[in-house]
Amino acid sequence: MSTLAHAPASLPDSHGHFGQFGGMFVPETLMAALKELESEYAAARADASFQAELDDLLHNYVGRPTPLYFAERLTSHLGGAKVYLKREDLLHTGAHKINNALGQALLAKRLGKKRIIAETGAGQHGVATATVCARFGLQCRVYMGKVDMERQALNVARMRFLGAEVVAVTAGQATLKEAVNEAMRDWVTNVRTTHYILGSALGSHPFPMIVRDFHRVIGVEARRQILEKENRLPDMLIACVGGGSNAIGLFHAFLNDASVKMCGVEAGGDGIIQGRHAARFQGGKLGVLQGTKTYLLANHDGQIELTHSVSAGLDYAAVGPEHAYYRDQGRIEYTYATDDEALSAFRTLSEIEGLIPALETAHGIAEVIKRAPTMDPSAIIIANLSGRGDKDVAQAARHILGEEIKF
Ligand SMILES: *Cc1c(COP(=O)(O)O)cnc(C)c1O
Repeated sequence: MSTLAHAPASLPDSHGHFGQFGGMFVPETLMAALKELESEYAAARADASFQAELDDLLHNYVGRPTPLYFAERLTSHLGGAKVYLKREDLLHTGAHKINNALGQALLAKRLGKKRIIAETGAGQHGVATATVCARFGLQCRVYMGKVDMERQALNVARMRFLGAEVVAVTAGQATLKEAVNEAMRDWVTNVRTTHYILGSALGSHPFPMIVRDFHRVIGVEARRQILEKENRLPDMLIACVGGGSNAIGLFHAFLNDASVKMCGVEAGGDGIIQGRHAARFQGGKLGVLQGTKTYLLANHDGQIELTHSVSAGLDYAAVGPEHAYYRDQGRIEYTYATDDEALSAFRTLSEIEGLIPALETAHGIAEVIKRAPTMDPSAIIIANLSGRGDKDVAQAARHILGEEIKF
Protein backbone atom coordinates (compact mmCIF):
# COMPACT_ATOMS: atom_id res chain seq x y z
CA MET A 1 0.00 0.00 0.00
CA SER A 2 2.84 2.41 0.92
CA THR A 3 0.36 5.19 1.66
CA LEU A 4 2.79 6.99 3.96
CA ALA A 5 5.78 7.05 1.67
CA HIS A 6 3.70 8.51 -1.16
CA ALA A 7 1.94 11.19 0.84
CA PRO A 8 2.71 14.58 -0.73
CA ALA A 9 5.02 16.35 1.68
CA SER A 10 4.30 19.98 0.73
CA LEU A 11 1.80 20.66 3.52
CA PRO A 12 2.21 21.38 6.31
CA ASP A 13 5.51 23.30 6.10
CA SER A 14 8.35 22.35 8.44
CA HIS A 15 6.79 24.39 11.28
CA GLY A 16 3.45 22.68 10.89
CA HIS A 17 1.64 25.49 9.09
CA PHE A 18 -1.12 25.04 6.58
CA GLY A 19 -1.00 28.61 5.28
CA GLN A 20 -1.85 30.76 8.31
CA PHE A 21 -3.31 27.77 10.22
CA GLY A 22 -1.76 25.08 12.42
CA GLY A 23 1.57 25.55 14.20
CA MET A 24 2.82 24.53 17.65
CA PHE A 25 1.10 26.49 20.42
CA VAL A 26 2.26 24.42 23.38
CA PRO A 27 4.13 24.90 26.66
CA GLU A 28 7.89 24.82 26.22
CA THR A 29 8.10 21.57 28.20
CA LEU A 30 6.37 19.74 25.34
CA MET A 31 8.49 21.10 22.51
CA ALA A 32 11.24 18.50 22.87
CA ALA A 33 8.72 15.65 22.79
CA LEU A 34 6.94 17.07 19.74
CA LYS A 35 10.25 17.51 17.92
CA GLU A 36 11.23 13.96 18.85
CA LEU A 37 7.88 12.70 17.55
CA GLU A 38 8.30 14.64 14.33
CA SER A 39 11.74 13.25 13.60
CA GLU A 40 10.82 9.69 14.58
CA TYR A 41 7.79 9.91 12.32
CA ALA A 42 9.96 11.14 9.44
CA ALA A 43 12.26 8.15 9.99
CA ALA A 44 9.32 5.73 10.18
CA ARG A 45 7.80 7.13 7.03
CA ALA A 46 11.01 6.48 5.14
CA ASP A 47 11.40 2.99 6.63
CA ALA A 48 9.97 0.20 4.46
CA SER A 49 9.80 -2.17 7.44
CA PHE A 50 7.58 0.26 9.36
CA GLN A 51 5.20 0.51 6.41
CA ALA A 52 5.25 -3.28 6.01
CA GLU A 53 4.35 -3.89 9.66
CA LEU A 54 1.60 -1.25 9.49
CA ASP A 55 0.19 -2.73 6.27
CA ASP A 56 0.22 -6.25 7.69
CA LEU A 57 -1.68 -5.19 10.82
CA LEU A 58 -4.09 -2.99 8.85
CA HIS A 59 -4.92 -6.01 6.76
CA ASN A 60 -4.98 -8.88 9.27
CA TYR A 61 -5.93 -7.14 12.52
CA VAL A 62 -7.95 -4.10 11.47
CA GLY A 63 -9.61 -5.44 8.31
CA ARG A 64 -8.33 -3.30 5.42
CA PRO A 65 -9.00 -2.72 2.62
CA THR A 66 -12.60 -1.79 3.37
CA PRO A 67 -15.15 -2.23 0.56
CA LEU A 68 -16.44 0.61 -1.57
CA TYR A 69 -20.12 -0.29 -1.60
CA PHE A 70 -22.63 0.87 -4.21
CA ALA A 71 -25.73 1.89 -2.23
CA GLU A 72 -28.19 0.85 -4.90
CA ARG A 73 -31.41 1.25 -2.94
CA LEU A 74 -30.40 4.60 -1.45
CA THR A 75 -29.46 5.76 -4.95
CA SER A 76 -32.85 4.87 -6.44
CA HIS A 77 -34.64 6.23 -3.36
CA LEU A 78 -32.92 9.61 -3.82
CA GLY A 79 -33.28 9.58 -7.61
CA GLY A 80 -30.06 11.37 -8.60
CA ALA A 81 -26.33 10.73 -8.36
CA LYS A 82 -24.99 7.22 -7.79
CA VAL A 83 -24.02 6.89 -4.12
CA TYR A 84 -21.04 4.81 -3.03
CA LEU A 85 -20.19 4.30 0.64
CA LYS A 86 -16.63 3.74 1.88
CA ARG A 87 -17.15 1.11 4.55
CA GLU A 88 -14.93 2.23 7.46
CA ASP A 89 -17.76 1.02 9.69
CA LEU A 90 -16.54 -2.53 9.04
CA LEU A 91 -13.14 -1.96 10.68
CA HIS A 92 -12.18 -3.55 14.00
CA THR A 93 -13.70 -1.48 16.85
CA GLY A 94 -16.32 -0.04 14.48
CA ALA A 95 -14.88 3.15 13.02
CA HIS A 96 -11.99 4.70 11.11
CA LYS A 97 -10.23 5.73 14.34
CA ILE A 98 -8.20 2.53 14.61
CA ASN A 99 -6.17 3.45 11.46
CA ASN A 100 -4.56 6.27 13.43
CA ALA A 101 -4.44 4.57 16.84
CA LEU A 102 -2.57 1.63 15.31
CA GLY A 103 -0.11 3.83 13.45
CA GLN A 104 0.66 5.87 16.55
CA ALA A 105 1.08 2.76 18.71
CA LEU A 106 3.75 1.60 16.26
CA LEU A 107 5.38 5.02 16.57
CA ALA A 108 5.30 4.78 20.38
CA LYS A 109 7.10 1.46 20.10
CA ARG A 110 9.80 3.08 17.96
CA LEU A 111 10.08 5.92 20.49
CA GLY A 112 10.58 3.38 23.28
CA LYS A 113 7.55 4.73 25.16
CA LYS A 114 5.58 2.11 27.05
CA ARG A 115 2.89 4.30 28.53
CA ILE A 116 0.07 5.73 26.42
CA ILE A 117 -2.43 8.44 27.24
CA ALA A 118 -5.42 9.55 25.20
CA GLU A 119 -8.58 11.56 25.59
CA THR A 120 -11.96 10.64 24.23
CA GLY A 121 -15.40 12.17 23.72
CA ALA A 122 -17.76 9.48 22.47
CA GLY A 123 -15.29 6.83 23.57
CA GLN A 124 -14.49 5.59 20.05
CA HIS A 125 -10.94 6.92 20.09
CA GLY A 126 -10.52 5.63 23.65
CA VAL A 127 -11.64 2.17 22.57
CA ALA A 128 -9.35 2.20 19.52
CA THR A 129 -6.42 3.31 21.70
CA ALA A 130 -7.14 0.77 24.45
CA THR A 131 -7.34 -1.90 21.76
CA VAL A 132 -3.94 -1.21 20.23
CA CYS A 133 -2.41 -0.85 23.73
CA ALA A 134 -3.67 -4.34 24.56
CA ARG A 135 -2.27 -5.58 21.25
CA PHE A 136 1.20 -4.18 21.97
CA GLY A 137 1.32 -4.61 25.76
CA LEU A 138 1.35 -0.86 26.45
CA GLN A 139 0.05 0.75 29.61
CA CYS A 140 -3.00 2.87 28.80
CA ARG A 141 -4.80 5.72 30.54
CA VAL A 142 -7.77 7.43 28.90
CA TYR A 143 -9.16 10.80 30.07
CA MET A 144 -12.87 11.26 29.56
CA GLY A 145 -15.36 13.89 30.71
CA LYS A 146 -17.66 12.64 33.44
CA VAL A 147 -20.71 13.63 31.41
CA ASP A 148 -19.42 11.68 28.40
CA MET A 149 -18.70 8.65 30.61
CA GLU A 150 -22.35 8.57 31.57
CA ARG A 151 -23.54 9.05 27.98
CA GLN A 152 -21.16 6.41 26.63
CA ALA A 153 -21.16 3.78 29.38
CA LEU A 154 -20.81 0.97 26.85
CA ASN A 155 -17.50 2.31 25.54
CA VAL A 156 -16.24 2.91 29.09
CA ALA A 157 -16.84 -0.77 29.84
CA ARG A 158 -15.11 -1.80 26.60
CA MET A 159 -12.01 0.26 27.48
CA ARG A 160 -11.87 -1.32 30.93
CA PHE A 161 -12.16 -4.85 29.48
CA LEU A 162 -9.23 -3.95 27.25
CA GLY A 163 -7.15 -3.14 30.32
CA ALA A 164 -7.22 0.65 30.12
CA GLU A 165 -7.62 2.94 33.10
CA VAL A 166 -10.44 5.42 32.41
CA VAL A 167 -10.12 8.66 34.36
CA ALA A 168 -13.22 10.82 34.86
CA VAL A 169 -12.68 14.56 34.27
CA THR A 170 -15.08 16.77 36.21
CA ALA A 171 -13.86 20.30 35.32
CA GLY A 172 -15.99 22.74 33.30
CA GLN A 173 -18.57 21.14 30.99
CA ALA A 174 -16.97 17.74 31.83
CA THR A 175 -16.75 16.79 28.17
CA LEU A 176 -14.03 16.51 25.51
CA LYS A 177 -12.34 19.91 25.83
CA GLU A 178 -11.69 19.38 29.53
CA ALA A 179 -10.48 15.82 28.88
CA VAL A 180 -7.94 17.20 26.36
CA ASN A 181 -6.68 19.70 28.98
CA GLU A 182 -6.21 16.87 31.48
CA ALA A 183 -4.36 14.71 28.92
CA MET A 184 -2.04 17.65 28.09
CA ARG A 185 -1.33 18.12 31.81
CA ASP A 186 -0.44 14.43 32.16
CA TRP A 187 1.80 14.62 29.09
CA VAL A 188 3.73 17.61 30.41
CA THR A 189 4.40 15.70 33.65
CA ASN A 190 5.26 12.30 32.16
CA VAL A 191 6.58 13.17 28.73
CA ARG A 192 9.77 11.07 29.04
CA THR A 193 7.89 7.79 29.38
CA THR A 194 4.59 8.60 27.72
CA HIS A 195 3.22 9.02 24.21
CA TYR A 196 -0.04 10.91 23.72
CA ILE A 197 -2.16 9.27 21.00
CA LEU A 198 -4.15 12.24 19.76
CA GLY A 199 -7.39 11.13 18.14
CA SER A 200 -8.16 13.58 15.35
CA ALA A 201 -6.41 15.84 12.82
CA LEU A 202 -6.02 18.47 15.53
CA GLY A 203 -3.63 19.80 18.14
CA SER A 204 -0.03 20.91 17.78
CA HIS A 205 2.18 19.96 14.86
CA PRO A 206 3.07 17.19 14.04
CA PHE A 207 -0.27 15.62 15.07
CA PRO A 208 -2.52 17.01 12.30
CA MET A 209 -0.03 15.70 9.72
CA ILE A 210 0.53 12.31 11.36
CA VAL A 211 -3.17 11.64 11.95
CA ARG A 212 -3.98 12.63 8.36
CA ASP A 213 -1.27 10.40 6.94
CA PHE A 214 -2.49 7.35 8.90
CA HIS A 215 -6.03 7.90 7.58
CA ARG A 216 -4.91 8.69 4.05
CA VAL A 217 -5.34 5.03 3.21
CA ILE A 218 -9.13 5.61 3.11
CA GLY A 219 -8.92 7.84 0.05
CA VAL A 220 -6.08 5.91 -1.57
CA GLU A 221 -8.24 2.77 -1.51
CA ALA A 222 -11.42 4.60 -2.55
CA ARG A 223 -9.66 6.19 -5.53
CA ARG A 224 -8.39 2.83 -6.76
CA GLN A 225 -11.75 1.14 -6.10
CA ILE A 226 -13.88 3.70 -7.97
CA LEU A 227 -11.51 3.58 -10.95
CA GLU A 228 -11.94 -0.21 -10.97
CA LYS A 229 -15.73 -0.05 -10.68
CA GLU A 230 -16.63 2.99 -12.78
CA ASN A 231 -13.47 3.61 -14.72
CA ARG A 232 -13.59 7.26 -13.71
CA LEU A 233 -13.18 9.55 -10.70
CA PRO A 234 -16.15 10.58 -8.54
CA ASP A 235 -17.76 14.02 -8.85
CA MET A 236 -18.25 14.58 -5.15
CA LEU A 237 -16.81 13.35 -1.85
CA ILE A 238 -18.79 13.82 1.38
CA ALA A 239 -17.69 13.23 4.97
CA CYS A 240 -18.61 14.48 8.43
CA VAL A 241 -16.10 16.77 10.19
CA GLY A 242 -15.43 16.72 13.91
CA GLY A 243 -11.70 17.36 14.21
CA GLY A 244 -11.63 16.28 10.60
CA SER A 245 -9.68 13.01 10.49
CA ASN A 246 -12.06 10.77 8.54
CA ALA A 247 -12.79 13.59 6.11
CA ILE A 248 -9.16 14.48 5.35
CA GLY A 249 -8.43 10.74 5.18
CA LEU A 250 -10.94 10.36 2.35
CA PHE A 251 -10.23 13.69 0.64
CA HIS A 252 -6.46 13.83 0.66
CA ALA A 253 -5.71 11.43 -2.20
CA PHE A 254 -8.12 13.40 -4.44
CA LEU A 255 -6.92 16.94 -3.69
CA ASN A 256 -5.02 17.22 -6.97
CA ASP A 257 -7.99 15.95 -9.00
CA ALA A 258 -9.58 19.27 -9.95
CA SER A 259 -12.82 17.63 -11.16
CA VAL A 260 -13.52 16.07 -7.75
CA LYS A 261 -15.53 18.35 -5.48
CA MET A 262 -15.48 17.83 -1.72
CA CYS A 263 -17.87 18.67 1.05
CA GLY A 264 -17.29 18.46 4.81
CA VAL A 265 -20.31 18.36 7.10
CA GLU A 266 -20.17 19.85 10.59
CA ALA A 267 -22.61 19.43 13.47
CA GLY A 268 -25.43 21.98 13.27
CA GLY A 269 -26.95 20.85 16.59
CA ASP A 270 -30.22 22.68 17.26
CA GLY A 271 -29.41 25.16 14.46
CA ILE A 272 -26.84 27.95 14.19
CA ILE A 273 -27.65 29.53 17.54
CA GLN A 274 -24.84 30.52 19.90
CA GLY A 275 -23.92 27.62 22.18
CA ARG A 276 -26.26 25.15 20.47
CA HIS A 277 -24.07 23.80 17.64
CA ALA A 278 -20.50 22.82 16.73
CA ALA A 279 -20.26 24.19 13.16
CA ARG A 280 -17.00 26.14 13.38
CA PHE A 281 -17.24 27.42 9.82
CA GLN A 282 -20.65 28.96 10.54
CA GLY A 283 -19.59 32.11 12.34
CA GLY A 284 -16.47 30.72 14.01
CA LYS A 285 -13.36 32.87 14.18
CA LEU A 286 -9.62 32.48 13.94
CA GLY A 287 -8.02 31.63 17.27
CA VAL A 288 -5.78 29.22 19.13
CA LEU A 289 -7.06 26.23 21.06
CA GLN A 290 -5.16 23.25 22.46
CA GLY A 291 -2.03 23.63 20.38
CA THR A 292 -3.26 24.86 17.02
CA LYS A 293 -4.42 28.00 15.22
CA THR A 294 -7.69 27.44 13.42
CA TYR A 295 -11.36 28.32 13.21
CA LEU A 296 -13.12 27.96 16.52
CA LEU A 297 -16.26 28.96 18.35
CA ALA A 298 -15.40 31.74 20.78
CA ASN A 299 -17.06 34.89 22.10
CA HIS A 300 -15.78 38.48 21.72
CA ASP A 301 -13.35 38.03 24.63
CA GLY A 302 -11.88 34.92 23.04
CA GLN A 303 -13.54 32.60 25.58
CA ILE A 304 -14.51 29.25 24.06
CA GLU A 305 -18.26 28.93 23.63
CA LEU A 306 -20.37 25.99 24.70
CA THR A 307 -21.06 23.53 21.90
CA HIS A 308 -23.81 21.03 21.31
CA SER A 309 -24.40 18.07 19.02
CA VAL A 310 -26.39 14.86 19.26
CA SER A 311 -23.12 13.15 18.29
CA ALA A 312 -20.34 13.42 20.87
CA GLY A 313 -17.69 12.83 18.19
CA LEU A 314 -18.53 16.11 16.41
CA ASP A 315 -19.07 18.15 19.56
CA TYR A 316 -15.86 20.19 19.79
CA ALA A 317 -15.17 23.93 19.50
CA ALA A 318 -12.24 23.78 17.03
CA VAL A 319 -11.74 22.24 13.59
CA GLY A 320 -8.52 20.70 12.27
CA PRO A 321 -6.17 23.37 10.78
CA GLU A 322 -5.85 21.67 7.39
CA HIS A 323 -9.61 21.97 6.90
CA ALA A 324 -9.44 25.68 7.77
CA TYR A 325 -6.79 26.06 5.07
CA TYR A 326 -8.71 24.26 2.31
CA ARG A 327 -11.86 26.12 3.25
CA ASP A 328 -10.09 29.48 2.82
CA GLN A 329 -8.59 28.25 -0.46
CA GLY A 330 -12.08 27.35 -1.68
CA ARG A 331 -10.90 23.78 -2.39
CA ILE A 332 -13.30 22.12 0.06
CA GLU A 333 -16.82 23.28 0.80
CA TYR A 334 -18.23 23.03 4.33
CA THR A 335 -21.83 22.80 5.40
CA TYR A 336 -23.70 21.43 8.40
CA ALA A 337 -26.51 19.08 9.33
CA THR A 338 -28.71 19.64 12.37
CA ASP A 339 -29.43 16.99 15.00
CA ASP A 340 -32.84 16.37 13.44
CA GLU A 341 -31.42 15.99 9.95
CA ALA A 342 -28.77 13.58 11.23
CA LEU A 343 -31.34 11.49 13.13
CA SER A 344 -33.53 11.35 10.05
CA ALA A 345 -30.54 10.24 7.92
CA PHE A 346 -29.72 7.63 10.59
CA ARG A 347 -33.19 6.16 10.06
CA THR A 348 -33.09 6.38 6.28
CA LEU A 349 -29.76 4.56 5.93
CA SER A 350 -30.83 1.92 8.48
CA GLU A 351 -34.17 1.24 6.80
CA ILE A 352 -33.11 1.45 3.16
CA GLU A 353 -29.64 -0.07 3.18
CA GLY A 354 -29.58 -2.12 6.40
CA LEU A 355 -26.64 -0.04 7.60
CA ILE A 356 -26.97 1.59 11.02
CA PRO A 357 -24.47 4.47 10.93
CA ALA A 358 -22.77 6.24 13.82
CA LEU A 359 -24.54 9.53 14.59
CA GLU A 360 -21.41 11.39 13.43
CA THR A 361 -21.55 9.57 10.10
CA ALA A 362 -25.27 10.31 9.81
CA HIS A 363 -24.39 14.02 9.40
CA GLY A 364 -22.55 13.17 6.19
CA ILE A 365 -25.42 10.97 5.04
CA ALA A 366 -27.83 13.88 5.66
CA GLU A 367 -25.85 15.90 3.09
CA VAL A 368 -25.96 12.97 0.63
CA ILE A 369 -29.74 12.96 1.03
CA LYS A 370 -29.91 16.69 0.29
CA ARG A 371 -27.47 16.71 -2.58
CA ALA A 372 -27.84 13.48 -4.57
CA PRO A 373 -31.35 14.34 -5.89
CA THR A 374 -30.01 17.63 -7.32
CA MET A 375 -27.30 15.83 -9.32
CA ASP A 376 -27.42 14.04 -12.64
CA PRO A 377 -27.91 10.23 -12.50
CA SER A 378 -24.56 9.86 -14.26
CA ALA A 379 -22.81 11.68 -11.40
CA ILE A 380 -20.99 9.78 -8.63
CA ILE A 381 -20.81 10.57 -4.92
CA ILE A 382 -18.52 8.78 -2.49
CA ALA A 383 -19.54 9.26 1.14
CA ASN A 384 -17.39 8.09 4.02
CA LEU A 385 -19.27 5.69 6.25
CA SER A 386 -16.89 6.55 9.08
CA GLY A 387 -18.40 4.29 11.73
CA ARG A 388 -21.23 2.01 12.73
CA GLY A 389 -24.02 2.96 15.08
CA ASP A 390 -23.80 0.30 17.81
CA LYS A 391 -22.40 2.84 20.29
CA ASP A 392 -25.31 5.19 19.57
CA VAL A 393 -28.20 2.77 20.03
CA ALA A 394 -29.23 4.16 23.44
CA GLN A 395 -28.97 7.77 22.26
CA ALA A 396 -30.91 7.11 19.05
CA ALA A 397 -33.56 5.10 20.90
CA ARG A 398 -34.16 8.03 23.22
CA HIS A 399 -34.56 10.47 20.31
CA ILE A 400 -36.29 8.28 17.75
CA LEU A 401 -38.27 5.75 19.77
CA GLY A 402 -38.67 7.80 22.96
CA GLU A 403 -37.30 4.84 24.94
CA GLU A 404 -34.64 4.74 27.65
CA ILE A 405 -32.21 1.86 27.26
CA LYS A 406 -29.66 1.27 30.03
CA PHE A 407 -26.47 -0.70 29.53
C1 LIG B 1 -14.80 10.33 16.10
C2 LIG B 1 -15.66 10.08 14.95
C3 LIG B 1 -15.89 11.07 13.97
C4 LIG B 1 -15.37 12.48 14.08
O1 LIG B 1 -13.99 12.60 14.09
P1 LIG B 1 -13.17 13.08 12.83
O2 LIG B 1 -11.79 13.23 13.34
O3 LIG B 1 -13.75 14.36 12.34
O4 LIG B 1 -13.29 12.01 11.80
C5 LIG B 1 -16.66 10.74 12.87
N1 LIG B 1 -17.21 9.52 12.73
C6 LIG B 1 -17.02 8.55 13.65
C7 LIG B 1 -17.66 7.23 13.45
C8 LIG B 1 -16.24 8.79 14.78
O5 LIG B 1 -16.08 7.83 15.70
